[in-house]
Amino acid sequence: MTAMEALSPAALKPMAVSPAMFDTKPSLIGLSREELAKALVEKGIAERQVKMRVQQIWHWLYVRGISDFDDMLNVSKDLRELLRTHFTIQRPEIVEEQISNDGTRKWLLRFPPRGAGRPVEIETVYIPEEGRGTLCVSSQVGCTLTCDFCHTGTQRLVRNLTAEEILSQLLLARDRLGDFPDRNTPQGAIVPAEGRKVSNMVMMGMGEPLYNFENVKTALLIASDGDGLALSKRRITLSTSGVVPEIYRTGAETGVMLAISLHAVRDDLRDHLVPINKKFPLKQLMEACRAYPGVSNARRITFEYVMLKGVNDSLADARDLIKLLKGVPAKINLIPFNPWPGSKYECSDWETIEAFAEFINQAGYASPIRTPRGRDILAACGQLKSDSERMRKTDRLAFEAMMIANHGED
Ligand code: SAH
Ligand code: SF4
Repeated sequence: MTAMEALSPAALKPMAVSPAMFDTKPSLIGLSREELAKALVEKGIAERQVKMRVQQIWHWLYVRGISDFDDMLNVSKDLRELLRTHFTIQRPEIVEEQISNDGTRKWLLRFPPRGAGRPVEIETVYIPEEGRGTLCVSSQVGCTLTCDFCHTGTQRLVRNLTAEEILSQLLLARDRLGDFPDRNTPQGAIVPAEGRKVSNMVMMGMGEPLYNFENVKTALLIASDGDGLALSKRRITLSTSGVVPEIYRTGAETGVMLAISLHAVRDDLRDHLVPINKKFPLKQLMEACRAYPGVSNARRITFEYVMLKGVNDSLADARDLIKLLKGVPAKINLIPFNPWPGSKYECSDWETIEAFAEFINQAGYASPIRTPRGRDILAACGQLKSDSERMRKTDRLAFEAMMIANHGED
């Protein structure tokens, strides 16, 4: 495809999708069963009914995926009215939906303030692949960490996302991709997990999930609940830049798969690229990885390693990487650096990346090179950014055109 063809409206035009009528009441989405029960009792639902009501509401929210109380067919009209008076189950507003040439979708979502504050915007990315589809979910608006090569890191933190906002990214993606049963599917019909568009979820969007541990944990436990969304914990991966104490808690309290943004194998370089290393250096990080519950050859830890030209991509680095990972069941994900406006690094040459991958492979580690996805819509790793500092549209179109000219054949 030529760069001009790639610039066709279908590839680049954002679609305005949903209306912007914000409901600012508290949401029932993202509450644990206990919190849901408490919320119902507070609004006058009889104690003896609560367990059954929680079960019904849970089913409608997370198995059927409804977003309107009127669709709760086995709930009485009075109760639906009561719920509507006090709560909402509305989805966020889709400000923009962009579809890349490679099928990757990026949604810019806006959440209303619940209580005080102003609306926030975040990005969620869906990456379809042969045999699976991965949803890349954000945990914060911006990020307080300032990894030198990451676009999100240049956006100041606006705030942590709530459990509702984290989970709503999954609900909205399943809506848009047709992953929930429709209204005509008989109640009680089992919806098979196979064939779902969103088969995997990664906490690899904007923000550092382990700086928002409680909300991320609540959302992941609901996403993996067997009587609801039922995503297997083996298909949920949380990526961290290395917040060591919360790595232990992630293992003990959520049981999801772990990915570490490693990017450097010496403390001096990692201090610079991933500054949280100054607080939790490599030795502590690797100890936490060794202690991660359930790690085995069947459940390996993923180490993400962004390939930066002339910075961390030598064969000496590859050799040190093998040494560092000794004894840890690991898979190494090599990520070609994705440039963004103003970034000061370059991506390693393709031959260098291949030689690096080959070296690691010879040492017995899987070392897939992550194909950049959705670069034309700035949806690839490290390119997400939103809200206050979004690029002006003219700048963005110029940048997108440049990216397509450079990477149109990716
Ligand atoms: N904050 C978490 C979650 C973000 S995951 C973390 O850092 O792990 C996003 C992944 O993309 C991380 O491994 C991150 O280091 C990587 N990344 C960031 N900027 C990038 C860029 N410009 N090119 C390629 N990968 C990048
Ligand atoms: Fe934050 Fe992760 Fe980006 Fe670092 S790589 S700035 S931790 S989002």
